[in-house]
Amino acid sequence: MTMILGIIEHDRGKLNETSLEMLTLARGVAQALNVPLEAVLIGEEARPLADSLKDYGVSKVHLIKHEALRDYAPLAWARSVIKLIEAKQPKGVTAAGTDRGNELLAHVGAQLGVVMAANCTEIRPQADGSWELTRLRWGGSLLEDAELRGEPKLFTVAPHTIAAEPVSSASNVAVEEFTPEISEQDTRVRVTERIEEERKGIPLTEAKIVIGGGRGVGSAEGFKALEELAELLGGAVGCSRVATNNGWRPHTDQIGQTGVQIAPDLYIACGISGAIQHMVGVKGAKRILAINKDPEAPIFQRADYGVVGDLHEIIPKLIEEIKKAKASKG
Ligand code: FAD
Repeated sequence: MTMILGIIEHDRGKLNETSLEMLTLARGVAQALNVPLEAVLIGEEARPLADSLKDYGVSKVHLIKHEALRDYAPLAWARSVIKLIEAKQPKGVTAAGTDRGNELLAHVGAQLGVVMAANCTEIRPQADGSWELTRLRWGGSLLEDAELRGEPKLFTVAPHTIAAEPVSSASNVAVEEFTPEISEQDTRVRVTERIEEERKGIPLTEAKIVIGGGRGVGSAEGFKALEELAELLGGAVGCSRVATNNGWRPHTDQIGQTGVQIAPDLYIACGISGAIQHMVGVKGAKRILAINKDPEAPIFQRADYGVVGDLHEIIPKLIEEIKKAKASKG
């Protein structure tokens, strides 16, 4: 009996929540194969995360320790995972389908000469040892059914397509340390410096309400009203690629295929046409409210609520009404 290994993504010990979605899908695969689900934490700073993983069905944690592994170094991380695979012979190895998760497992796959399936949404192990799977392609605009053969099977889980579901578990997680050999060659690509972004408020990917601005906002100055609305609602501001291309917002605010993927309770799209490359970034939104002066704008086909009109008139009115409502509540 071997196991499914789930690589937990974290930043110096801060968990990336998409790893819990990954564990939820991986747990189903492990159950179907009747093998345990075990997790991999890379770097000593991740140790405090180990215990909480039992709530997601993890029975054991492999803590990969090495001084070269504090910050992300794709080759060194891949080398470590390969060494662990050689020692443990897992049936499958998975990570969240983030930039990092996909890059890491692509390196592992290339070096081991095995196939890696990125951005899976479903896995169905078959009696003959193969796995049927469904995965996102083309930035999420296409669902592909595929078959994965060979061992170990490498796959990542498409972010925000599966809800992270805890399970009740009484037992504690055993932590097994593992120190791989890492050569200088393996650290030639690595993070050498970190410059923290000066960002006020809630991160875009965690906000429950996101106000998105597109070409219709018209200027960097025009985003001030969106900022005010976001602050009133306790949300964050994002944007379309036109807004980043025009230098109105930083690229970190861009939502979509070549930006971030968000999953808020409410997405308010202002002056955004609803191009597919933008909409794949908001697939996880529970509700969409579109404000657009063109009643034919494609965004209205995807929106739950729509306001046809000029955002420069509508947003100030919205702000006024919210302020009034807040004031009347005391
Ligand atoms: P437009 O399409 O020009 O739409 C502007 C909208 O604003 C229109 O519907 C208009 O009616 C409305 N409007 C104008 N003035 C007002 C007003 N005063 N009040 C109300 N409404 C108004 N795009 C992304 O967003 N994210 C990505 O990650 C991304 N990745 C891409 C990757 C590739 C490979 C490619 C080819 C494209 C990508 N794009 C991406 C670009 C995408 O195709 C669209 O061009 C872009 O999303 C359009 O941005 P927009 O909606 O702001 O602008």
